[in-house]
Amino acid sequence: MKKAEIEKLSKRLITEHRIVWDEIDEKEKETIFNFDKEYQNFLNKAKTEREAVNEITRIALENNFSLKPNKKGPIKLIKTFQGKSIALSASGKMPIDEGLNIIVSHLDSPRLDLKQNPLYEDIDLAFMKTHYYGGIKKFQWLTRPLAIHGRVILSDGRFLDIVVGEDDTDPVFTIADILPHLAKKVQDDKKVSDAFDGEKLNLIVGSIPLGDKDTKERFKLAVLKLLNDKFGIIEEDFISAELEVVPAGRARDLGWDRGLTASYGQDDRSCVFTSLQAMMDIKNPKNTSLVLFVDKEEIGSDGATGAKSKFLESVLADLMIANNKEPHYHDIHKILMKSRALSADVNGAIDPDFQDVHEKRNAARLGYGLCVTKFTGSGGKYSANDANAEYIGWLRKLFRDNNVIWQTGELGKIDEGGGGTVAKFLAVYGMEIIDCGPAVLSMHSPFEIAHKGDIYMTYKGYKAFLES
Ligand code: MN
Ligand code: MN
Repeated sequence: MKKAEIEKLSKRLITEHRIVWDEIDEKEKETIFNFDKEYQNFLNKAKTEREAVNEITRIALENNFSLKPNKKGPIKLIKTFQGKSIALSASGKMPIDEGLNIIVSHLDSPRLDLKQNPLYEDIDLAFMKTHYYGGIKKFQWLTRPLAIHGRVILSDGRFLDIVVGEDDTDPVFTIADILPHLAKKVQDDKKVSDAFDGEKLNLIVGSIPLGDKDTKERFKLAVLKLLNDKFGIIEEDFISAELEVVPAGRARDLGWDRGLTASYGQDDRSCVFTSLQAMMDIKNPKNTSLVLFVDKEEIGSDGATGAKSKFLESVLADLMIANNKEPHYHDIHKILMKSRALSADVNGAIDPDFQDVHEKRNAARLGYGLCVTKFTGSGGKYSANDANAEYIGWLRKLFRDNNVIWQTGELGKIDEGGGGTVAKFLAVYGMEIIDCGPAVLSMHSPFEIAHKGDIYMTYKGYKAFLES
């Protein structure tokens, strides 16, 4: 064969992996950077699941979605539950019986929760005890500025929402770490998994005592007085509080060229924002669209606001009523079995410093667009829904037709580790579902890294999906 013929053959037969920057023009490049600014705004405003629900509601209301079904015009519904999960739905050209296009993402991120009796003093400092939530590497949370976000239910039943540590004039909090000079026995000689203790993730919250040296617990008392003067809080109020300790500070452009975004909470608020934005921007969708945002994914999707709850069924029942249909159990399940879904969640991109944990031919890379993951789980695909080839075939065509740059990924080498998403909890309804979202670096860390091109392609892919 001639050289030119071989080249042609190679181009036709071998899969081409495409970097977003190589495939777009100057105009789309500008669009990507503008989109990312909105994305970073969202990350800054929505650092907890409650804040995310509020922000999603605000944006949806601005875009003609409503909390009650409107009598005229297309259905554009918001349904929130317990302030921690939310669903947005919009009617399509086809009747609802034809099935829904669903995108589900999660609003919660790994963090430190304050304990129920958090406040104490030791060696003339005041502390608050924390209990980590989700999969964290504990040492990443030491010696960095931390903020407190959350809700307190006061003794008279009123609630109070608190954010401290984000404004430049706010104080911050931190967890101290032992100096390297003395770390030999307590850290250096231990396995990393043993060297950092959950009970040592104690937040420094005060250092100025009240009263004189005869005053009981005067460092703790001083903090309580401050909290009482500012918020009316007494110590017992912490029992009925959900206060989350998160990294203080804003999302930032990363690198000289600003091509990356670094921020806390991109797992999974990158998918939350892109699916929200896709829902706001779709025009004349064929099927009924449903964008679902759930809580508790990082701790196994249990609970009333997690993906294992009956929230989806309830949302669908509301939608059927809005469509003048009786929400019979059997019909709800018939519709769900006809539905298509994307489990919108992040994957881990190849870490250049730890390439050995990935199988490079199948791992996702930063910058290669939206990542589709057929299965998660661990070992022999345990605990994965393992999406159908037919469905992936359909998605391939959809992304090709809509100029979405995309790649496939898996969660590390076969016997290296593993993880899960909400995909399997929706798959039980019989719907087609697959994991689909950007690949990130430093996942679950206080400063996760995403590629701006991937974030935009995720939005573009979700939008094409909802419109299909
Ligand atoms: Mn996730
Ligand atoms: Mn996660």
